[in-house]
Amino acid sequence: MDHSRETALKIAERFGGGAQYIAGALRPGCSGRSHDVVDPATGEAVLRYELAGAQDVDAAVAAAEEAQPQWGSATPGERSDAMHRFAALLAERAQELALAESLQCGKPVKLTTEFDVPGSVDNTAFFAGAARHLQGVAAGEYSGDHTSYVRREPVGVVGSIAPWNYPLQMAAWKVLPAIAAGNAIVLKPAELTPLTSLMFAQAATDAGIPPGVVNVVTGAGPDAGEHLVGHPSVAMTSFTGSTAVGRRVAEIATRTVKRLHLELGGKAPFVVFDDADVEAAAHGAVAGALINTGQDCTAATRAYVQRPLYETFVAAVADLFAAVRLGDPFDPHTDLGPLISQVQRDRVAGFVDRARGDGARVVTGGEAPGGGLATGAYYRPTLITDAPQHSEIVQGEIFGPVLVVLPFDTDDEALRLANDTPYGLAASAWTRDVFRAGRATREIKAGCVWVNDHIPIISEMPHGGCKASGFGKDMSAYSFDEYTQVKHVMYDNTAVARKDWHRTIFGDRG
Ligand code: NAD
Repeated sequence: MDHSRETALKIAERFGGGAQYIAGALRPGCSGRSHDVVDPATGEAVLRYELAGAQDVDAAVAAAEEAQPQWGSATPGERSDAMHRFAALLAERAQELALAESLQCGKPVKLTTEFDVPGSVDNTAFFAGAARHLQGVAAGEYSGDHTSYVRREPVGVVGSIAPWNYPLQMAAWKVLPAIAAGNAIVLKPAELTPLTSLMFAQAATDAGIPPGVVNVVTGAGPDAGEHLVGHPSVAMTSFTGSTAVGRRVAEIATRTVKRLHLELGGKAPFVVFDDADVEAAAHGAVAGALINTGQDCTAATRAYVQRPLYETFVAAVADLFAAVRLGDPFDPHTDLGPLISQVQRDRVAGFVDRARGDGARVVTGGEAPGGGLATGAYYRPTLITDAPQHSEIVQGEIFGPVLVVLPFDTDDEALRLANDTPYGLAASAWTRDVFRAGRATREIKAGCVWVNDHIPIISEMPHGGCKASGFGKDMSAYSFDEYTQVKHVMYDNTAVARKDWHRTIFGDRG
């Protein structure tokens, strides 16, 4: 398999002529500003493109508006066939997608080839099937005199905004349920990482999904992003990103009374009870904290470990952190790549430095590596203990390879601490006791609670949070609740001119 950066660079060059994908064709953006896609492993620019401005957003929305009625009135079977072809084409292009994703994000090829790309192909195949299976209440004579049924109709044009941490998967999560339900979409990926969203949209068109059904505008958040959210012809905004930007997006969407789906930040607790398999928990914590260099909204960030296991757990995690191989994302043996940018690395380093000031102990890591990795946005896996529960390192979303471990004594205390941040996206409980597991899964406020694992996701099950992590679901049939409008249709079955219920108006007139 070709894992080379040279091949990845050639893929990036394809978008030199334009990184806006509107009505099935690439074109340059009209904002008058250009942007560099930077390889975070080297700090070198790999693509310069013209950012989208309001005009590009308008053109993409117009293309979506034009394409949607026909796509929305295709039969579920027709949409499903096209999406099955889409899944097959993505599978054929898997290697290119993985290389492009590794280049723009600095993700190890191990991760992109084994996780990002196969996950997105599977999502596409899932939604190809799900397109034929929209659910609702059975039609029936609920009033006695009428037949009622529900229609699930597309909402129209969806405007979606995605972050840079999993660009391909985020494109898939946004686009697939929307188009399976008969909508057309304008997707704005993060300006740092446009490549795989564009390749995804191209594959949709190449597979026979009509041009204009899937459009991509690559522009900056405050102009292209806000213009898309505020656009009067966009019926729904689906946003994945930080809680701070989510609040702003919600404000703008509210002005045009848009349907809104928000997938925001996370700060997942990882609760280890004293009967847990400590080796399994330590391995799970390391993988759960470091996947995608910790830039994962569901990453394990706060491990609460019951006192009898605490020292063993901290020592095991420290050993495993030390063994993780940082390196070139294109080396198949690399475990951990750089962060997305130098800015993000400095942000993570700032969190760790302030934690030191708050009295926390940095057990391992807490610095950028030197040598050949110094020019990339690398940061060593960092294990922190002795941090106060109310401190920033425990409460805030760091989005880097940093795990805080804190002890607890009672189950009540563990569950209270697990719920003690503004976020509610994901959590895990580690125990061999079914009653403890049951209590933790009931009482932890999060969109997902794993038992004896942390991170796995599957197409059939919903993803999405509560509290400051937002609302609404990605993936699974539950996502159709976001992307369809439920309409009640009611037929009178009596054929009677003067109906019983008319008494409320005519009753006293005999
Ligand atoms: P971000 O909020 O900075 O940006 C996300 C997207 O919003 C980008 O496309 C950006 O260009 C756009 N944007 C920025 N300002 C905007 C504005 N004023 N109006 C409209 N759009 C705007 O987030 P990020 O740094 O790209 O990604 C990391 C964040 O995403 C983390 O908080 C992470 O937890 C979150 N995330 C959440 C999930 C989830 O499923 N809940 C999944 C992945 C990432």
